Amino acid sequence: MYTLPRLRFAHLPTPVETMPRLSEFLGGPQLWVKRDDLTGLAFGGNKTRKLEFLLAEAQAHGARTLITAGAVQSNHCRQTAAAAARYGLDCILVLTGEPPEQNSGNFLLDQLLGADIVWSPPADRDRKLEEVFNTAWQGGMRPYLIPYGGSNAVGASAYAFAMEELLSQGMRPDWVVFPSSSGGTQAGLVVGGKQYAFSGKILGISVDKPKEGLADTVLRLALSVGECLKAKLDIREQDVLVNDDFLGAGYGVMGPVEREALQLFARTEGLLLDPVYTGKAGAGLISLVRSGYFRKDDVVLFWHTGGTPALFAEAYTRLI
Ligand SMILES: *Cc1c(COP(=O)(O)O)cnc(C)c1O
Repeated sequence: MYTLPRLRFAHLPTPVETMPRLSEFLGGPQLWVKRDDLTGLAFGGNKTRKLEFLLAEAQAHGARTLITAGAVQSNHCRQTAAAAARYGLDCILVLTGEPPEQNSGNFLLDQLLGADIVWSPPADRDRKLEEVFNTAWQGGMRPYLIPYGGSNAVGASAYAFAMEELLSQGMRPDWVVFPSSSGGTQAGLVVGGKQYAFSGKILGISVDKPKEGLADTVLRLALSVGECLKAKLDIREQDVLVNDDFLGAGYGVMGPVEREALQLFARTEGLLLDPVYTGKAGAGLISLVRSGYFRKDDVVLFWHTGGTPALFAEAYTRLI
């Protein structure tokens, strides 16, 4: 595959492990897990892979400040703040909503990592982000703007390489299941899957958007990742599988189903999911296994995308 400029700070390859006790408990297919919660940068997660490429681009532009946006408990913002610190850059985070009463979880880490925080009402965030960028530019801070979730073609291409990594670990699962939100992870996996003729299915569990909208975003992003990697790939609508049956009470809301998933993974495998992303996708996986969606002899790989610091967010600790 065509290589893009990349810095190396993620701990790669991330381990692939079996989940024998969870598989047995559910009486289902063989379940495996890819541990991208262990990518290493300030508690890791999937954004660390994307940031290796985004930081290389920022450096090439001579950037001195990283600017990005997200929710109060954004893992993406926490990992961006850590990457900025590591490369001696300033970091401004535009967070949506109101300052919480207590500093906890990712929001606590953002501050520990030295990021400047700007607050914005949710409806106003794009305008606010532009305003922050323009002010930084005029102030000579040489800002570099990273989109929500690090999901542009450069960031998402990281997951095409992650798919190459999985295959080079000798894994050929029938299914790859993971949480999907801004679509970058899924777009990259689809591109990597095409590039290496992966014959399994790549199934994104939506954590905040209806299926059609997300599938459309992933498809468009996958096409631009393909271009970015100079790969002539025949990527089509049917390559993008999204399930939106597990949105529950909405983005970031932890209900009984997510709680059960967190407990099951923890108590059968000693594995920690997060309340926002892998909790929902884990609940989806469990439900699909129970409903007989997979064949008994399938190998199903759950791609753990990280997010565990949110377990310690004040909003969630009392629900766990
Ligand atoms: C951002 C994030 C996701 C979603 O990845 P996208 O590339 O935005 O779809 C999943 N899990 C965790 C823990 C995340 O932080």
